[in-house]
Amino acid sequence: MKHLISFSLCFITLTAFSQTSQKIYNIIDAVSSDRIQKDIQTLVNFGTRNTFSDTISDTRGIGAARRWIKSEFEAISKNCGNCIDVFYQKDFVTKSGNRRVPHDAWVVNVVAIQKGTKYPNRYVIMSGDIDSRASDTMDFTTDAPGANDNASGMAGTIEAARVLSKYQFESSIIYVGLSGEEQGLFGGAGLAKYAQDKNWDIIGVLNNDMIGNIKGVDGIIDNRTFRIFSEPVPPTETERERTLRRFYGGEVDGVSRQLARYIYKTTKVYMPEMNPMMVYRLDRFGRGGHHRPFNDLGFSGIRIMEAHENYTQQHQDIREENGIKYGDVIEHVNFDYAKKLTAVNAINLASLASAPQQPKNVAIGGIVQPAVKFKWDKVDDAIGYKIYWRDTTSPTWDNSRYVGDVSEFTLDGIVIDNYFFGIASVGKNGFESVVVFPNKVFRD
Ligand SMILES: [Zn+2]
Repeated sequence: MKHLISFSLCFITLTAFSQTSQKIYNIIDAVSSDRIQKDIQTLVNFGTRNTFSDTISDTRGIGAARRWIKSEFEAISKNCGNCIDVFYQKDFVTKSGNRRVPHDAWVVNVVAIQKGTKYPNRYVIMSGDIDSRASDTMDFTTDAPGANDNASGMAGTIEAARVLSKYQFESSIIYVGLSGEEQGLFGGAGLAKYAQDKNWDIIGVLNNDMIGNIKGVDGIIDNRTFRIFSEPVPPTETERERTLRRFYGGEVDGVSRQLARYIYKTTKVYMPEMNPMMVYRLDRFGRGGHHRPFNDLGFSGIRIMEAHENYTQQHQDIREENGIKYGDVIEHVNFDYAKKLTAVNAINLASLASAPQQPKNVAIGGIVQPAVKFKWDKVDDAIGYKIYWRDTTSPTWDNSRYVGDVSEFTLDGIVIDNYFFGIASVGKNGFESVVVFPNKVFRD
């Protein structure tokens, strides 16, 4: 029932801005499972893409793989009048002090930036990983096809660039292949630091890691469900912020969680055949991914991945043991599913890069009153603002009210204690920013 309500609310928004929704549907239709399949095969053919593998050969190893990815982004850029800047971003990683580093090496990311027409310094990022691994993470010579982990995410990222480069967006979109994931999230850490040094205004990071497996180790086959992992609150919050949360709430309302809700909603609206599953944790139990280094620096970022993993098909040498075939080979990848998850990314990148900035200094009041009050700072390009609220136990923003181009509003008849609230900016084309959870309290 909850889902029905949020769906019908979204439907009203869509009808009001129907020409915009068509563009999003066109983006979904343009994503090709054939091209994703071809790219995964190309990546698999490099034998191993272990971060510490051969960099000289043109047919085998991480060097050949990243040069191919770079050339692919460059070809896409050529097709859109050089709309994408492509470059390597790299950091040197040493054996000393790193238990899982077999020898010193450059960890090289391939970065492709589609510059925003209006806000070039605002970025929404889609990432996949270049690297793969065998059973032993230190083994950089044995075949490690990494078809699902994570050629699928890499191929999806390249395909999203192909599709979205046909359009222009106000904010920048970054498509990136990260490296060094398997030995310590080195590539993500390097790019996050680079972004911080350059003062990039990051709207969010959509990290894709394993988006092609539909047959779980638990026997379940499911080509509709996928997971969105998000941490509750940033690790960078201050002691004071933590203290205030005890009194004003926000335990499940950090910036990454709001990004997860945005992706959930966009998917429900435009791809209702899919079942997005928000998971209220940073990542899987005791395991990691490349959104984390961005979260570490306070950037919002989530992980998109399949719902049902198969552990005999990840981080395994190709072999047969007791009748079980091990190995992350391409035969296990479902290209139509990878296409759907690529489309989920593409429509969210497009929506976020088309939306106005988030409202600033969102303040809430209404203690011991029969009304909730809001004040916020307006932002450029918003035609209005939307107040969202939900039951405290609900994962999704189930209620909303568009309040127009104002910077304060009172919701009468609603008691502040019983709901959580947030505010989004709405642009002229109907695209909305990610919801902001109030970060100030006022009394009057
Ligand atoms: Zn992995």
